[in-house]
Amino acid sequence: MTAFPPRIGARGHARAAAAILATLLAAAFALATGAAARSTSGQAPRRSAVLFIGDGMGPAYVTATRLARGGSAGRLHLDDLPYTALVRTYAADGPVTDSAAAATAMACGAKTVNGVLGQDRTAVYRTKDGAKLETIATWAARRGMRVGVVTTARVTHATPAAFYASDNDRDHERAIARAAIGSPLDLLLGGGREFFLPGPRVEDDGGWAASDAEDLRSAARGRGWTVAESAADLRAVVSLRGKKVLGLFADSHLPFEAETRAAQGGAPAAQGKTVPTIVEMTRWAVGVLKAGGRPFFLMVEGGRIDHAGHSNWARTLVDETAAFDGAVGAAISVLDPKTTLVLVTADHETGGLAINGYPEEKDGIWSTVRPQEGGKPYPVLSFMSGPGTHQVAPGPLGDDDARPSGIALTDAAHTGVDVALYGWGVGAEQVRGTLDNTAIYGILRATLEGRTADRKSLLGAPR
Ligand SMILES: [Zn+2]
Repeated sequence: MTAFPPRIGARGHARAAAAILATLLAAAFALATGAAARSTSGQAPRRSAVLFIGDGMGPAYVTATRLARGGSAGRLHLDDLPYTALVRTYAADGPVTDSAAAATAMACGAKTVNGVLGQDRTAVYRTKDGAKLETIATWAARRGMRVGVVTTARVTHATPAAFYASDNDRDHERAIARAAIGSPLDLLLGGGREFFLPGPRVEDDGGWAASDAEDLRSAARGRGWTVAESAADLRAVVSLRGKKVLGLFADSHLPFEAETRAAQGGAPAAQGKTVPTIVEMTRWAVGVLKAGGRPFFLMVEGGRIDHAGHSNWARTLVDETAAFDGAVGAAISVLDPKTTLVLVTADHETGGLAINGYPEEKDGIWSTVRPQEGGKPYPVLSFMSGPGTHQVAPGPLGDDDARPSGIALTDAAHTGVDVALYGWGVGAEQVRGTLDNTAIYGILRATLEGRTADRKSLLGAPR
């Protein structure tokens, strides 16, 4: 049994002196690192945060990707993040959310109705504005932090747009493109060039006036943006000093990972002109933000996971989720967990992906299983809704990518299941229990302010 405090003998004094010295050294070290973790102007800790959103990446997407890449016992980067919670995803007007309402909840900390960006629940989709909400990105920029948004979808698409725009119609992408170049973001990377070119050239954007033929890339340059239109252009930018970077790497969404890989395998001369992958964009963004020496907030969206899900393309969905997981791994390998919070989540699930029983481990998830009672074999993976195997166009990974769906829809529906939230780094211990998607904002905001969120406020009824 040990008494406390421990008795100190003659030899113990030397040990105690060494212990005191060690304590003093540790205290000096803590002071030094503490000083490094404080801003030059005041007491606010210099904390940064990265929010990864896998669009449509429900729990079964993560499991399927793990099974496909490493078998049942495999591990994704996500599996190594130390804290997890469940997240309720509902919108203000129903149990199944779209990306606009879900991203608004995470970016602004308040529920809104489906289809609406950056406004509260008094908004009426396509009809009436609600009260404008301040996004975490705008708030962070106001505090002198660097702010970035990276996506594999169009930069004007719902998820990225919720971090810098306000509109009662998520499809007003021309107006959102204008908001982008007037926003306080330091970097915005993805697709969607078509909304920045002289137009109108996109017929279904009801908000794009026929008289509006401005080239928003030129307008962006006039406002201090450097416009990058290829992976090589992006690599040529080595610092954010004195500039903002707008990356428009495709007219619409970026190609699927499989398509980009195929293009990169082409002639060396063409490779420099290719589209950057989510891993390349994330590495670049984290690199320049870290090098800037200022705290930052970065949102990275795996936007095409959802698109693969809407089409019931199982291999593409796994490929996109694996790439997203790779981006998470690339970020945490260079970030400091003492000063940076990394959160990874999904805005909702797409299509009702199921992993059906009972395949043999050696056969894997791309196989079929025979019903125990006899009869026709069925695929291990299937969806609850979507075009299923009846679609005409092949997926980016070939004809046999589609899996069957229970309810025939040309485009799979989102579902209302809870999604996972993963946490790593400073403040990550707040990621536990069952949270509302608005609590993601609460955790980010508190951590960037250098405090822990009040648990009651995290668990209370959302605004
Ligand atoms: Zn979707």
